[in-house]
Amino acid sequence: MKKFLIAGNWKMFTNVFESKILVETLLAEISKKEMHTTVLVCPPFTSLCGVAEIIKDTDLKLGAQNCHFEEKGAFTGEVSPQMLQFLGCEYIIIGHSERRTHFKEDDEIISKKLSAILDLGLTPILCIGETFEQRMNNLTNDILTNQIEKAFENIKKAHIKKVVIAYEPVWAIGTGISATSEQAQETHSWIKDFISSKYEANREDLTVLYGGSMNDKNCHELLSLADVDGGLIGGASLNAETFATIIENAEKISKI
Ligand code: PEP
Repeated sequence: MKKFLIAGNWKMFTNVFESKILVETLLAEISKKEMHTTVLVCPPFTSLCGVAEIIKDTDLKLGAQNCHFEEKGAFTGEVSPQMLQFLGCEYIIIGHSERRTHFKEDDEIISKKLSAILDLGLTPILCIGETFEQRMNNLTNDILTNQIEKAFENIKKAHIKKVVIAYEPVWAIGTGISATSEQAQETHSWIKDFISSKYEANREDLTVLYGGSMNDKNCHELLSLADVDGGLIGGASLNAETFATIIENAEKISKI
């Protein structure tokens, strides 16, 4: 029985009041059922404490959208993985394309974050993905190879299977145009083959989420693919009913 991870990336939306309402509405939608799927919400930093309080006795998991790689120090405006762990975060998203693009996060920084998160025993969600131009030029696998190799440069072998990869084609994020089933399956399969052969990890131990305009309409098709282990969902996670529909689909598919 496949165990999906369905993660909501709320990006820079929802102040603390709106976040609390969103998570309460979500809980009302899903808490009636026993869940096999792992459900994760990643609100903005300012909402983590408020959301943590609401979900503390539930199965919902808490994650952050970013972190610094140091534990503490003179890094104005930054937040450490230890601080996030203290708040109850079990997952941290790193390397999101919006951070790579708008905040110039490079592979070296992402690699340091990955090691810091793993060393602390938290689960990193490492986002990788190609631009439209790169896909058109048949560079997808080269880009993903580079992103994975650089990120994994300093991590321990035992930690490989703990890394959740989110394959997020940049051209699919927030555009309403998701990857086709063929593109998603082919790329997810390639990612698992690459990591398992290069880093001697068991293919079955690897978790690869799909991200990029997943919604209540296309989630069934995408989650039904052999090598899709869940979703990283932006826009559609900001509506509790829509997000709950995606979770319901994951539940149904996992029982097939
Ligand atoms: C994301 O932010 O990771 C994402 C996939 O966004 P969206 O679902 O809105 O495309």
